[in-house]
Amino acid sequence: MIKYCDLKKINGVHEKELQEALMRSASSGWYISGEEGRRFEESFARFCGSKYCIGTGNGLDALTVILLAYRETGIMQENDEVIVPANTYIATIMAIAQAGLKPVLCEPDPATFNIDSSRIESLMTERTRAIMPVHLYGQTADMDAINAIAARHSLKVIEDAAQAHGAWYKGKRAGNLGDAAGFSFYPGKNLGALGDGGAITTNDEVLTEIARAIGNYGSHKKYVNLYKGMNSRLDELQAAVLGVKLRYLDEENGKRRSIARRYIEEINNPNIALPSVNDYSRHVFHIFAVLSQERDKLQQHLSDKGIETLVHYPIPPHKQAAMRAFAGMSMPITEKIHMEELSLPCNPAMTDNEVTAVIDAVNSFTA
Ligand SMILES: *Cc1c(COP(=O)(O)O)cnc(C)c1O
Repeated sequence: MIKYCDLKKINGVHEKELQEALMRSASSGWYISGEEGRRFEESFARFCGSKYCIGTGNGLDALTVILLAYRETGIMQENDEVIVPANTYIATIMAIAQAGLKPVLCEPDPATFNIDSSRIESLMTERTRAIMPVHLYGQTADMDAINAIAARHSLKVIEDAAQAHGAWYKGKRAGNLGDAAGFSFYPGKNLGALGDGGAITTNDEVLTEIARAIGNYGSHKKYVNLYKGMNSRLDELQAAVLGVKLRYLDEENGKRRSIARRYIEEINNPNIALPSVNDYSRHVFHIFAVLSQERDKLQQHLSDKGIETLVHYPIPPHKQAAMRAFAGMSMPITEKIHMEELSLPCNPAMTDNEVTAVIDAVNSFTA
């Protein structure tokens, strides 16, 4: 049996160092907003090439807090609009709604799965305040085009980098490609904690101050509350774990990339479309997404051969009960991706033989 993502194996490689970090943190007597968190924020900011990093409780909160901070500055007001790719994981859209803003859905480029920058300007109104590109599946969005549009119309660019830790775009890392970025450290992400975690990265000092306060009851200083904040902080145990795993992130992303390279070179089934990789970005393959018109049959075929696959994602956000405002909307490109996408196992715990088994099983599929 080849599991889609064997976290026991992925984390097991670092067992000794993780135990040391967990014990150090657990026995320190300090569990929220302490040394471990500060150290991790510093190393993650340095890793991304950004000036500041603020830990949060999870990735959804990281995105929400950025938007709430812009609302506090007056740059964004209730019901202002944020343009977001229609085929993202629903958390991106929920963050916008939770901040009292209006998500405006944009179709993706079917070749890259990322927001189609050529459609953004046609969706703009006088209430548009931001573009929120998602580096979906681990490949950075078309950032030069997006930043140029944002500059022309004085919009903020907020990256959802929850699937792209360590990815590059023309010599810069994800997390340092717009005005601010939100990351998730959900266990299955390329940089995953042993529980929930998230972070904001930015070069904006004012935003940093406000965002840090918002995640801490709106307070910079104990019992002094400037904003109606929330409680969303990265805890010390998770920060200690992430500090260990960050040291191996580039190496582990390299393993994902070499598995992906083999899939792209060796899968040659006419019923399956492989992902297209931009030469300007360094894809970190959080998800290796193929498309097939016979997706469900392909998934069954692989399951019969002992290979676990997932669908990212089975229902597009605009068709979810939670998003009734979008009911009846037609998004043909997004809907086609949701009908045809299948994610093959692609993670640093896989052996060469397992990769070969996946390739052989995919190539033996007949529609
Ligand atoms: C995982 C993810 C999130 C949410 O992160 P959580 O830590 O689970 O809250 C947001 N956006 C995208 C694209 C994600 O993949």
